[in-house]
Amino acid sequence: MPLTVWILGDQILSPHPALQNLETQTSRQEIIVLMIESRSQAQRLPYHAKKLVLLYSAMRHYAEVLRASGYRVDYRVAANTFAVISSHRQEYRTDRLVTMAASSVRGRRFQNSLLSKLGIETHIIPNTQFLSTIYDPLPDVAPGQAVRQEQLYRGMRQHFKLLIDDQGQPVGGTWNYDQKNRQALPKNLTSPKVIHFEPDSLTKQVMEEVDQFDRLTGSAEGFDLAVTHESALRAVDDFLTQRLPYFGTYEDAMRQRAPVLFHSKLAAYLNIGLLTPLELVQAAERCFYDGKAGINNVEGFIRQVIGWREYMYWQYCRLMPGLAAENYWGSANALPTFFWHGRTRMNCLRQVIQRVLDLGYAHHIERLMLLSNFCLLAEIHPDQVYEWFSSAFIDAYEWVMAPNVYGMGLYADGGQIASKPYIASANYINKMSDYCQTCSFDKNQRTGENACPFNFLYWNFLLKHQDKLRKNYRMARMLHNLKFLDDQEKGAVQDQAQQFIEDLEK
Ligand code: FAD
Ligand code: SF4
Repeated sequence: MPLTVWILGDQILSPHPALQNLETQTSRQEIIVLMIESRSQAQRLPYHAKKLVLLYSAMRHYAEVLRASGYRVDYRVAANTFAVISSHRQEYRTDRLVTMAASSVRGRRFQNSLLSKLGIETHIIPNTQFLSTIYDPLPDVAPGQAVRQEQLYRGMRQHFKLLIDDQGQPVGGTWNYDQKNRQALPKNLTSPKVIHFEPDSLTKQVMEEVDQFDRLTGSAEGFDLAVTHESALRAVDDFLTQRLPYFGTYEDAMRQRAPVLFHSKLAAYLNIGLLTPLELVQAAERCFYDGKAGINNVEGFIRQVIGWREYMYWQYCRLMPGLAAENYWGSANALPTFFWHGRTRMNCLRQVIQRVLDLGYAHHIERLMLLSNFCLLAEIHPDQVYEWFSSAFIDAYEWVMAPNVYGMGLYADGGQIASKPYIASANYINKMSDYCQTCSFDKNQRTGENACPFNFLYWNFLLKHQDKLRKNYRMARMLHNLKFLDDQEKGAVQDQAQQFIEDLEK
């Protein structure tokens, strides 16, 4: 009796573990690989057109590779996933289905319901897209116990022996090189162009189809991403040779005309299985041993992948579904409409939002210290922020978006994920970028017609939430500065913040 291996669209691993496990017991001809482009999933939010093109084109290329290597592939475009599995089953007369555990809670619930709803025997193999599902460094943490990224990161580095010496200690003598990193960008330093890939005929076909969808963010035009494992590896090579040598040093810098700077732009590939985290960090580690990149840059990058990425997934599994209902600050304002078109007087937000709508990408500091910083200070409801981020980014998936938006970006979970709320005024943005130089707002003014909104929103937030903020020792310095504002100034920032927020909703 033939057997179905259902490969999810964000699990196009090479080789896929389900196929690998079956190879020894079953011939390729007995396996029917089922792949589904679910149109109902694609319409849940106005997803970025380039994200859908990436996903569908990569899936279709993957199906071709499987066919060429002797598998039978049933590739379906469908409105309803239940219905399609049911009709697949009847057509191919399969009574067993093997699949890999989905990365999202919703996906796992769906997989678990297949036996009762469709009467199909379902074997769900463990998810191997994350290192923390292969090795959990903190298996005995009690519910509610605070865990920080650093704890998980060190356990990961030791277990996978990344930048670890023979004594089990971190190479270079320290776990973290933050003091050397996070520098502002020198004026004369330009960042290299990121490799781009010409769409082939299959990708062009997908671009045309996606552009017909009713609800979309951005458009498919200008799509230039990798859609195969081979091209994703070329993108890795481009990053390792061109940008890794500066990655950590300038990881917090922002520049108007350089969306990627020295970042990798690889998250979208990692999140659908075109790349795997271990191969990526091992390749970065080799660059250090080969003398091609310094320890601060390589460690900084490895920390992002096996520290932050794994920590976010680990926390997602631990804190969902409650995480996506958190609202610690009681924020209730509507997301300004300029998030959907980019037309605002604030230069930093205008540039970054327009770029996100175009490319589906902004690097981490722009996501954190511009976009979510603004949403936190303007007290936008977390669910609306979540919906926008989920729609607008090419690398957005629930497991990564929920902890980053509710946890790191908005601190809506009260600090279960981030060790402090990430808030800043124009002072920080000006120090780390060139946005303020051409903005019609004044970065130095706290109140007044031309005062930068980040300033009065920041001081208003500190004043309004000082009781909650005082509970976090990392906020002490910011709160201390409140004493330099007299009562009149405090009243002025609060009035202007309130007016600004009211105007946003008009
Ligand atoms: P790089 O700066 O080159 O970093 C290397 C890799 O580290 C990334 O590719 C990514 O896989 C990983 N990484 C670094 N930080 C994080 C993090 N906080 N969480 C998870 N992985 C991390 N990342 C997504 O993959 N999808 C999202 O939808 C997403 N939404 C975000 C929303 C907010 C509000 C914030 C603050 C962060 C979000 N991130 C998200 C995390 C991070 O910003 C992106 O992974 C990163 O910017 C992707 O660009 P890059 O590949 O150039 O990353
Ligand atoms: Fe952004 Fe304010 Fe700087 Fe303008 S002045 S770019 S709004 S931080």
